[in-house]
Amino acid sequence: MTTMRTPTAKTAKTAKTAKEATTAKTGPTAPRTVTDGGLLLPVPDADGAPFWEYAARGELRVQACAAPDCGELRFPPRPCCPHCRSFDSEWRLMSGRGRVWSYVRPHPPLLPAYAEQAPYHVILVEPADAPGIRLAGNLVSAAGAALDSVDPERLRIGARVQVVFTELDGVALPQWVLERAS
Ligand SMILES: [Zn+2]
Repeated sequence: MTTMRTPTAKTAKTAKTAKEATTAKTGPTAPRTVTDGGLLLPVPDADGAPFWEYAARGELRVQACAAPDCGELRFPPRPCCPHCRSFDSEWRLMSGRGRVWSYVRPHPPLLPAYAEQAPYHVILVEPADAPGIRLAGNLVSAAGAALDSVDPERLRIGARVQVVFTELDGVALPQWVLERAS
């Protein structure tokens, strides 16, 4: 999925623990936002960070309310449940399967690294086990394939897709492939 570029509140100035202070001293001063090849990297905020940590393990998880009588999904991730106002949350494992709910085919003008691969598919996925949310991401022929690697003739609203994880400068980026190979 693409990510929200929300500024993170946690900076070196606000680090409270010794571990965080040490990390702030030795780590990069700001998160990388672009790969060497010019592709955009996710910039997780505190609420969304677990999504990327689970993705690094090859798991697609969505934040859910952990209040006993609620359990509604929260997407995008946020501190408070919009249904019951609980601050309790958990990260629910998804099957990684879904359907194309909508899509766009971006054309230039785009950032140079994207213009080289345009037009390509950006799809909105309705997850099979979470029909109330939509995940945005690229449709590709296989993990790591070019953004324009799927024949446009094969893309249909409702097509079944499966998540794959593509390594992008140390970040596991969820992308989608069609379930039917042909
Ligand atoms: Zn709730």
